[in-house]
Amino acid sequence: MSSDVTPNTTAASPEDDVMVRVRNLRTYYDDSSLFGGNPVKAVDGVSFDIKRGETLGLVGESGCGKSTLGRTLVQLEEATGGDIEFNGTDITTLSGAELQRWRRNAQIVFQDPDSSLNDRMTVGEIVREPLDVHDWKTPKERRQRVRELLETVGLQQEHYYRYPHQFSGGQRQRIGIARTLTLEPEFIVLDEPVSALDVSVQAEVINLLEDLQDEFGLTYLFIAHDLSVVRHICDRVAVMYLGHIMEIGPTEELFADPSNPYTHALLSAIPEPDPTVEKSRITLHGTPPNPRYPPDGCPFSTRCPARIRPDEYEDLSDELWTQLNTLREVLRERERAERTIRDRVGELLGKEPRFGTIEEIYDELFGDVSVPPKVQTVLDDIADDVRDNDEAAALETVRAEFGSVCESEDPEYYEVSDTGRISLCHRHQEEYRSPGQVLEDRHL
Ligand code: ADP
Repeated sequence: MSSDVTPNTTAASPEDDVMVRVRNLRTYYDDSSLFGGNPVKAVDGVSFDIKRGETLGLVGESGCGKSTLGRTLVQLEEATGGDIEFNGTDITTLSGAELQRWRRNAQIVFQDPDSSLNDRMTVGEIVREPLDVHDWKTPKERRQRVRELLETVGLQQEHYYRYPHQFSGGQRQRIGIARTLTLEPEFIVLDEPVSALDVSVQAEVINLLEDLQDEFGLTYLFIAHDLSVVRHICDRVAVMYLGHIMEIGPTEELFADPSNPYTHALLSAIPEPDPTVEKSRITLHGTPPNPRYPPDGCPFSTRCPARIRPDEYEDLSDELWTQLNTLREVLRERERAERTIRDRVGELLGKEPRFGTIEEIYDELFGDVSVPPKVQTVLDDIADDVRDNDEAAALETVRAEFGSVCESEDPEYYEVSDTGRISLCHRHQEEYRSPGQVLEDRHL
């Protein structure tokens, strides 16, 4: 259960038919000329496989890198590093005609059909365009193919000469889907394909996608924030946070008994339809860190309710522990703002950034919490550093006193079930599987 494994354990056994093999994939947005050096690490080292014919779900809070990952898989974004193999060929190295040929295999359906359909083209022209671009057969055969596709996605042949604005949102998404099917792809990234649609038509489009998968043997990466849809249609799910995959495994098992603290927190945000069912809830504090400045160690360490505590502080209340975490975030923000401003214009302006005083911050954070003397002594030291405008020293003190392996060392992936499910968390390590602070032991 707890054996230490690398992400590569998602590699399938020989009898599994892997279509997409991703290894240590990184996609950074490097606009460093604007923001003084650090790229946005939207996808920061992910590894997984997608088997032929399966639907892999990709979930996580907004901004965690889902779209970037999907777009990189179909080469709409260029990978910064790592490999993407399709049927054994590394596609990150393709260019020119080879890339053009490969693109037929992998398509993407976007969330918002309105912005992906050109309102000045007829439905027929929109769906036919990829065939024209690839110079597919004769014009007559192209028109025939488009008519067939319109029927395949539940539209009518007569819709060929109409314009997108004459259709409802659900029908427009069907047009978008027909267009992605023109070149007979094997793999489709569905990027929130039903999120912009009325609830009443979401199920119809989902059913269509499932039917098409059966009919054409399609393989899907299904990106969604609606976890109930994911639970319904995905064979496996990958849970993403701050550019990393925190947990990946078979859907039903992962939903029923999540192993990673982040998965646990994400799932406990889903309302339980049956009020008589008792569910242990975990509240996530704060927002995810900026992917331009990810924390050291575990990506989830700044918000994790199961963050490992130093032995001498094991008995602190959860409330105080949460506030100490927030203090660390405040100090990080101050240090970062100071550095950015200094790097860019601070010295020219001759101004200090305006912050609240440390007294105000302490009052806000610890005013209503009981603080034991040993913690108060450390807080006093930190306050002295902040008064000297030395946030770096204050942060060092926080790290030395309250820090743990979670923020000093990168976690590894651990196999957490015999179905190949893996999870990225220090808590899976034997010595840290102490009975639950916040999380129950069985989840760790
Ligand atoms: P999600 O799909 O999970 O909401 P995204 O992949 O859209 O996440 O974004 C991941 C991170 O990358 C976010 O911080 C987002 O602001 C940033 N990002 C996305 N696209 C760009 C871009 N073109 N340039 C710079 N940053 C980007």
